Amino acid sequence: MPTYEYRCDECDHEFEEFQSIKADPLDICPECEGSVKRLISAGGAILFKGDGFYITDYRSDDYKKAAKKDAEAAKAPSTEKEKKGKKKEGKKEGKKE
Ligand SMILES: [Zn+2]
Repeated sequence: MPTYEYRCDECDHEFEEFQSIKADPLDICPECEGSVKRLISAGGAILFKGDGFYITDYRSDDYKKAAKKDAEAAKAPSTEKEKKGKKKEGKKEGKKE
């Protein structure tokens, strides 16, 4: 059940009322029996929980790992060059083709 907020026009008394959506809105102030208006901001109807950020953090951690791998590969490019150089020099590779 949503909580509706009301404010009295007469005495500015503000109060919350648990009501079903189908229930008619209150129009009488409990303090002075003046006319009250329902405030639009239905408190607690929509709450953004921070859980979504957990996914972002998890993904960023994964991204960090991938970035670290890239960094390590970039740090040691000489190994790759040596392998390629040996292959080019090796005559066995050419014979297979
Ligand atoms: Zn009032």
